[in-house]
Amino acid sequence: MAYLSHFFAFSPPPERTVRYGRVSAGRLIYLRIFATLPFIMPMKKIIIFLGPPGSGKGTQAKIIAEKYNYGHLSTGDLLRALQTKKNLTAEETTALAEMKRGRLVADELIYELVFKEIDRYIANGQGVVLDGAIRNVAQAKEYQKFFEQKKLDSEVIAIEVALPDAESFNRLANRRVCSACGEIVPIDPAAPATTCPKCSGEFVTRADDVPAVVEKRVREQGNVPLQPIKDFYKKLGVLKVVDGTQTIQKVDQDVQKLI
Ligand code: AMP
Repeated sequence: MAYLSHFFAFSPPPERTVRYGRVSAGRLIYLRIFATLPFIMPMKKIIIFLGPPGSGKGTQAKIIAEKYNYGHLSTGDLLRALQTKKNLTAEETTALAEMKRGRLVADELIYELVFKEIDRYIANGQGVVLDGAIRNVAQAKEYQKFFEQKKLDSEVIAIEVALPDAESFNRLANRRVCSACGEIVPIDPAAPATTCPKCSGEFVTRADDVPAVVEKRVREQGNVPLQPIKDFYKKLGVLKVVDGTQTIQKVDQDVQKLI
């Protein structure tokens, strides 16, 4: 559809009217050029994944980052990594406590963790996939300001992995995570796995995946608070949506068509 509108918007001047059946030669050339555009346009450098907790945005972000050698920046992972850091600052200690309660951590800490990493990947000639890195409108605006300063604002695409809140709740309350490599698997009630098929690490329940905290996370990070963030990217004309209720493979196929 995108290139059809280009075709009509850029129709050639009427004097070039050699005709092939009902289509003029000029139009045929334009049609061919714009039909090819989606295949020759380079991938955007900043891919932002949005979605409620448990929507699978992390899984999709990892797939894309690996496939295209992009940096994968998961703010959840960056924050969890602080758990093993010695000499935490007061801000970091508070953030870990907020995380455990299922609440958002301070915006400033997020910028501190992420912006320098984006700079590093871009300087290295890579793009970045942002996974869960934007969870309120203030953050969306601050990231956009940062991208404008770095002349990266035309490189942004935001992909929402859409999932109803009820499904988000079910997924979080019924999953385990590998304590060694971070692999996440849904619990199979018939044969609950205790070790990770990828690295043989031990599966554990994430501290914020217990039911009371899950409820708070879905309320504070689910579809209601997500709406104004989606509106922000929609207004910028860069928001795309994939159906997160599908299999991982099918969601991946849909994402590949968009980037
Ligand atoms: P996740 O692993 O993406 O589910 O994130 C785990 C937790 O980290 C969230 O429940 C929040 O407490 C915190 N967190 C992650 N990303 C952000 C962000 N962009 N802003 C604020 N808090 C965040």
